[in-house]
Amino acid sequence: MPVQNKIINYGKQTIDEDDINAVIAALRSEYLTQGPSVEIFERDLADYCGAKYAVVFNNATSALQAAYHAAELSDGDEVITSPLTFAATSNAALWFHAKPVFADVEFLTGNIDFATLEKAISNKTRVLAPVDFAGNPADLDQIIDLARKKGLVVVEDACHALGAKYKGRMIGSLSDMTVFSFHPVKSITTGEGGALLTNNHKYYESAKRFRGHGIVRDGFAGLTHASWYYEMQTLGMNLRLTDFQSALGSSQLKKLPNFIDRRRIIAARYVEVFQKLPNLRVIQPNNLNESSWHLFVLVLEGSLATKRDQIFEELRKRGVWVQLHYIPVYKHPYYKKIGYVNELCPVAEKLSNRIFSLPIYPSLTNDDQNVVIDSVKDVLRKFS
Ligand SMILES: *Cc1c(COP(=O)(O)O)cnc(C)c1O
Repeated sequence: MPVQNKIINYGKQTIDEDDINAVIAALRSEYLTQGPSVEIFERDLADYCGAKYAVVFNNATSALQAAYHAAELSDGDEVITSPLTFAATSNAALWFHAKPVFADVEFLTGNIDFATLEKAISNKTRVLAPVDFAGNPADLDQIIDLARKKGLVVVEDACHALGAKYKGRMIGSLSDMTVFSFHPVKSITTGEGGALLTNNHKYYESAKRFRGHGIVRDGFAGLTHASWYYEMQTLGMNLRLTDFQSALGSSQLKKLPNFIDRRRIIAARYVEVFQKLPNLRVIQPNNLNESSWHLFVLVLEGSLATKRDQIFEELRKRGVWVQLHYIPVYKHPYYKKIGYVNELCPVAEKLSNRIFSLPIYPSLTNDDQNVVIDSVKDVLRKFS
């Protein structure tokens, strides 16, 4: 067997003793699910983001579905989103027989391009679903303003952006609904997990009902019922997060500001080194100190632009486990099968062919970051 190089992944969770103790305490308690930790985590999240309500889910894909359900998405409605995202953003719309419409992205940021988004609006559009690519918030003022004028609902896929700010305001407090993920590579983790944040009571109630089979237990006007009484009022699912996961979530959330600080320090170092190299560009957020830096994405330019795959393989051979975020969603075989054509979004395609994501996570050591930097420099030199 060849000696296995140490692998430095592009993302990784940070779990400390206090996180472990929080989970143990929840496991020793009366409740494994539907206990007090769930509502505590929801309150913590809403407070942290400055939103009125939070509803936690078993993952962000479920939270996206709940958001589209709350927006009353149905047959033939259109959802405008970015092709440079994880497939769940648009998949969740397909489950409601709605049609994802992909607007192109900006070459500089990888975020949805506002002019293209505006042009994509039709009389069937119901939801705008911007994605905060790499942790850099999309152009939310313009998008929310447009949605107000046209009577559309903004569902922000902020799975990369828990802890990010937009013009001084916390992500999670701005769009009609904002969705976060707690997958291990995201800002904080609950193993699997997600949340929907909103300031709108109707969306909040709808999301909660959708999470729990559409069942309602109280608030029946004018009637008196026995205490066991409940009604299933709408069609729902079971998309609940457990108590021990919620306990982990609250524990992780306390450390989120430190996590983000560490990501910003790592990113600043990468930016400093890589912006000096030829034929290379950094996907720069609008504000270096407001991004949550979920991803650190490099773009190959000039003579390196066609060599991404070789560079990618060479880095992985050295244990630097770079990733691709993303293949434009409509290029996946399933999307082709349902009628999407290649070359739909030329800028997203161009980016997708030239980008790769470097390791960035709070526990990445300076030594490991040095290994990444030296490897990238070395490999780029080789292909120059
Ligand atoms: C991670 C992610 C999701 C899905 O999150 P899960 O919690 O794994 O369901 C959706 N959209 C984006 C942009 C993501 O990064």
